[in-house]
Amino acid sequence: MTNLTLKPYISEEKIQLKVKELGETLTKQFKNEKVIAICVLKGSFMFYSDLIRSINADITCEFFGVASYHGGTSSSGEVKVTLDLASPVENQHVILVEDIVDTGLTMNYLKNSIMSRKPKSLTTIALLEKPDALKVKCDVDHVGFKIPNDFVVGYGLDYQGYYRNLPYIAQVQNFQ
Ligand code: 5GP
Repeated sequence: MTNLTLKPYISEEKIQLKVKELGETLTKQFKNEKVIAICVLKGSFMFYSDLIRSINADITCEFFGVASYHGGTSSSGEVKVTLDLASPVENQHVILVEDIVDTGLTMNYLKNSIMSRKPKSLTTIALLEKPDALKVKCDVDHVGFKIPNDFVVGYGLDYQGYYRNLPYIAQVQNFQ
């Protein structure tokens, strides 16, 4: 196990309150509609599972696997698909759930990939966004928290595969 020093950054309580708020917004948007919620693996699995439980609509679940950090702490800028969607999204409402928007390259890649499959609508949501790290213009419909350009772990986000199981988000103090 790695022994990094972690500084708690966004508490479990704050995250859960934000998830509820985002869920209420999406419930208003999709009430009485069928919607496909796409979980972007691996980082958004925890946010996704809390979020979909707070949305009151007819939801089906899909999973889209992408890798861009390759285990390090800076984005490679190159997006690799590790798991494609199992079902078509054509003519259906889609919610795309991401963990964090850093350079914006992954979110833009995902948006283009889904739009090319002709959904009825696409709503994008990210728990975190680092506005100072953006390298390309990237519009996201709903963002939980805007954070500084620091590397964070927890609540699904990893460092070399670890720390995803923390129920809160922390900043890493000492990289090895
Ligand atoms: P982007 O393409 O926007 O640069 O990167 C998006 C992906 O990089 C995210 O889905 C996430 O997997 C990873 N990422 C970006 N910033 C962080 C961070 O601070 N911590 C962790 N653990 N992953 C990050």
